[in-house]
Amino acid sequence: MESKPVINEFSGIAAKGLRNRYIGSLSAADAGERVSVCGWVARVREHGEHLVFVDVRDYSGIVQVVAHSSVDLRSEYVVQVAGLVSERPEGTVNPDLATGEIELTDTEITVLSAAEPPPFAIQDRVEVDEAMRLKFRYLDLRRDKMQHHLRMRARINSAIRASMERQGFTEIETPLLWTPTPEGAREFVVPSRLHQGSTYVLPQSPQIAKQLLMVAGFDRYYQIARCLRDEDLRADRQFEFTQLDLEASFVTQRDIMDFISDAVIAASRAAGISATGEVGEISWKDAMDRFGTDKPDMRFGNELIDVSAVFSNTSVRALSAPCLKALVAPNPSSLTRSKLDDLVDRAKGLGAKGLLWLRAVAGSEGLQFESPVSKFFTADESKSLMDVTKVSEGDVVLIVGDAWEKACHVLGQIRLELGRSQGDPDEFRFVWVVDFPLFEGVDEQGRLISAHHPFTMPNEEDFSKLESDPLSVRSQSYDLVLNGWELGSGSIRIHRADIQSKVFASLGITEEEAGNRFGFLLDAFKYGAPPHGGFAFGIDRLAALLVGEDNIREVIAFPKTQSGADVMTGAPKEIDTRIWDLLGLSVKAPKKYLA
Ligand code: ASP
Repeated sequence: MESKPVINEFSGIAAKGLRNRYIGSLSAADAGERVSVCGWVARVREHGEHLVFVDVRDYSGIVQVVAHSSVDLRSEYVVQVAGLVSERPEGTVNPDLATGEIELTDTEITVLSAAEPPPFAIQDRVEVDEAMRLKFRYLDLRRDKMQHHLRMRARINSAIRASMERQGFTEIETPLLWTPTPEGAREFVVPSRLHQGSTYVLPQSPQIAKQLLMVAGFDRYYQIARCLRDEDLRADRQFEFTQLDLEASFVTQRDIMDFISDAVIAASRAAGISATGEVGEISWKDAMDRFGTDKPDMRFGNELIDVSAVFSNTSVRALSAPCLKALVAPNPSSLTRSKLDDLVDRAKGLGAKGLLWLRAVAGSEGLQFESPVSKFFTADESKSLMDVTKVSEGDVVLIVGDAWEKACHVLGQIRLELGRSQGDPDEFRFVWVVDFPLFEGVDEQGRLISAHHPFTMPNEEDFSKLESDPLSVRSQSYDLVLNGWELGSGSIRIHRADIQSKVFASLGITEEEAGNRFGFLLDAFKYGAPPHGGFAFGIDRLAALLVGEDNIREVIAFPKTQSGADVMTGAPKEIDTRIWDLLGLSVKAPKKYLA
């Protein structure tokens, strides 16, 4: 019998219609009362000659119903049960069940709907293949775990809305049939019937619309918005996802970060998590230096250490690199020789030229490093490496030498892979990552690549470097990270035409192209654009993390499979050729027919 209570949203809600109580609300305090409940048959057990025990379940709980064996009941039949709440005889109380002290006796059972045997048992502990779960999603969702997750998600949404409204934000819906959004992903297009040959584009985010709302004077806008991106799917990505999207005028980066911090803390509390502490803050440069990533999991230490200075005069070729990063490995005793060889391969797989490892062992003159390369170290190098890494006996130091960003990235990945299990799953460490570079690099044609989107305001102190040294320009953008996952990002936007033209020029976007792509936004800016900025974070991901799931499908009612299919509805499906005609389109033969 399942025992986990779902969420007790039913308390205080009057059951109506065919029942007068929710099952989970029944207790020994109701003994002697006649009640009527409705739900699904979870289990039928013979009890003595003429009696059966029927477990009946609604979303709020499960109750034992004593019935005459003549009733024909099977799993998942939908029933209405009228009966007397009776305390269970001594010795038969079930402490694992919220209603375990009582049962319904003297019952009248009406079958409201018969059911075929379900393809899998509606029980959390029964493992069901993913494809099967998605094909019969309405049965999968009937299980306690999924009821819990989706109801928790609703609570999270509600807490986010309340936080936004408390902070003076107005919820405004923006169009789904829209025009391209500059977020950098592939977009879904919707052919127009009335304007044949033209398409709408589904929004990757309400980015442009929300900026227009600022020009329109809405001051503080928010929306729990559905966004669509035609990208390959993985555990943390679906074609459509939901984000809290906000934008505000006359504010600083700090203000936006505070608005969002309030919302995520409120969401965490709604999910029963109070141990979030303050939302931390780290610069992008520091995050890379210390954790090797712009989404640091700060629940555990083992930070990367810069050891470039230790080996500035080294004769070891592998150590003659622009940057040397070291990591004192967590769980060193598990790092056998073959595990260390695997790590070297892993580092190479991540793009490093190699990885050096050194084990601190007790020698005749105290602690010393044991490693294939340590014999090439000078005494000074060994000593200062010990000092900066603060190793003790048994520790393993891993070193990667490369360009700064590569060395950080490779060792940051290894830190995560070795250390992730050290992070307390019950700890929720939100952290702001700030001071990102404005551009993340240069493409093959020599054009700068925007790190966020082209409307991101450069850091005012760096304005002068936009032309002379663009790669060193920091932006006024900020990411929110939770336990190593990027929840979302945002920025202060450019509201001045002169700065915008400079940034477009750096990105290789000509005036003509900018006009074609976002002319309406640039036009709007001519009519009095307030300084503004915003943010968006993924609610699917936040909800998944808060309920302890890795995969966002666990908090989405009807998700797609990894290949983008909906196995229940069969979408995407071929459509009638008449529809293509109506749209003025013709389709090449689907690939499968060409094979
Ligand atoms: N539109 C951005 C995104 O969807 C967020 C923002 O800058 O507000 O990632």
